[in-house]
Amino acid sequence: MVYSLATVVDLINTGAGERDGLAEVGDLEEFVRRREVSGVGAVTRRDLGEVRALREEFQAVFTAPDQPTAVGLLNTLLQRTRITPHLAEHDGHPLHVHYFAPGSSVAEHLAADCGVALAHVLVENERDRLRTCAAPDCSHVFVDESRNRSRVYCDSRTCGNRMHVAAYRARRRDAS
Ligand SMILES: [Zn+2]
Ligand SMILES: [Zn+2]
Repeated sequence: MVYSLATVVDLINTGAGERDGLAEVGDLEEFVRRREVSGVGAVTRRDLGEVRALREEFQAVFTAPDQPTAVGLLNTLLQRTRITPHLAEHDGHPLHVHYFAPGSSVAEHLAADCGVALAHVLVENERDRLRTCAAPDCSHVFVDESRNRSRVYCDSRTCGNRMHVAAYRARRRDAS
């Protein structure tokens, strides 16, 4: 579940960089390898188109302005997704539940497993953990795992650090 949530974050963020991280079939192959999306064969241009469309849908759920909107969007996505719970152990991951139906395409696999992961976030009333980076020129999304729900940057080493430096410089300017 945690892993599927990280996968949906990775998927949405492929669309947040300077270059589209899902521009070509090779990018999708790389994504499937990186996220260990199991049970899918060779990916095609059609898969690429479907996954890119799904990326838009997940982004809309992730960044929805309120809970009812998020619930409505996610239900629409789940309604057309075939779901078959199945226990699996692979790639060194401990026993876990898969939700995608046998014979699923990459997009169907992601819709099922990432869709269920997001459903749990909404059910547990933890939608405020689904965040977009606060740095002005960054639109990466992330899941705030901090205890006090205080994380505002996608990555403290890059965006957080960059913003600290900018604030420090601004203070220095004010002081002089
Ligand atoms: Zn798995
Ligand atoms: Zn950022």
